[in-house]
Amino acid sequence: MEEKIKELLRTVVHPETGTDIVTGSVVERIAVQEGHVAVTLQFAKARDPFAVKIKNQVQHLLETSLPELRATVTIREGAPRKAKPERKTTTGGIARVIAVASGKGGVGKSTVTANLALSLRAMGYRVGILDADIYGPSQPKMFGVEGYVPDAVREEGIDKILPAEVRGLRLMSIGFFVKPTDALLWRGAMAVNALRQMIHQTDWGELDFLLADLPPGTGDIHLSIIGELKIDAAVIVSTPQQIAVADVVRGVEMFRNPNVNIPVAGIVENMAWFTPAELPENRYYLFGRGGARAYAEASGTDFLGEIPIIQSVMEGGDAGTPAAATDPLTESYYRSIASKIVDKVTKTA
Ligand code: ADP
Repeated sequence: MEEKIKELLRTVVHPETGTDIVTGSVVERIAVQEGHVAVTLQFAKARDPFAVKIKNQVQHLLETSLPELRATVTIREGAPRKAKPERKTTTGGIARVIAVASGKGGVGKSTVTANLALSLRAMGYRVGILDADIYGPSQPKMFGVEGYVPDAVREEGIDKILPAEVRGLRLMSIGFFVKPTDALLWRGAMAVNALRQMIHQTDWGELDFLLADLPPGTGDIHLSIIGELKIDAAVIVSTPQQIAVADVVRGVEMFRNPNVNIPVAGIVENMAWFTPAELPENRYYLFGRGGARAYAEASGTDFLGEIPIIQSVMEGGDAGTPAAATDPLTESYYRSIASKIVDKVTKTA
């Protein structure tokens, strides 16, 4: 009987997706018992505008086609189906994808990504960076590979693009495909297409971690990246003065949205204090103190650590050698954060 009902429900099509509600997994459960049929529907989108219409359609269909059964149709609210199994990365060789995000530009998200990648590498992991920051792809400059032109190879009938190999890392950046002067043109549809290609066609090989440097803020571009890339955890970077600002909160909420449902591994506070070289014991909290820790606590997010303003961090970024590769003190800050991230993402697996 269940099968018969299933076939019947295949005639109901979701107007937005164009897929019938069985194939589209809107039908969560069909239970027949003692002259009664109960159908539970669940919609991928919270507050799907077609939910009630479809529910009524199913009710009517059951009542007219199977008058011998009493029909109850319910919509399951709350946590929608986990989107995870539907997400896809073509490269099966990536064990974990970690997104690095920020509420605003200029807080050091790319710098943190690059240095964390190097720390993870130094810990012995195989690491890749996907620079998806379409507004300001800075990884090529940070690693001194601005001139890299990705080559394409054909593997088992599929075109693959080769990432740059630098300091033991694999790097793919939207910056390899756009000139800084075209950046504006690439927003929107073109950027999304280029990102999709980078996500699905990069020949990453085997990686323990892929760090995705996301564009700052929250928007359509994030949703499309989240839809294409199976992200395991997100790390939010903020400066002390940005932490209280709505953008950071929005960033955290974006990942926590039930439809996105990506765990936030925690918050990194960048440019937390300044220590002049001649007064190594002194810490000057130029932009306030303790905000990120307090926000992390208040929002139920973990605080992963803080990184001071370090001259070598800035210089390293400009010179094409991130500081974690050359400066042991800097490396120690990033390594402590990297270890926490590893603990979190491998524990929640
Ligand atoms: P975002 O990716 O958030 O736009 P960037 O990583 O490009 O930000 O950093 C912005 C600027 O701040 C860069 O010039 C970078 O070198 C510098 N910077 C980032 N973090 C630090 C730090 N801890 N100490 C000194 N300079 C930093």
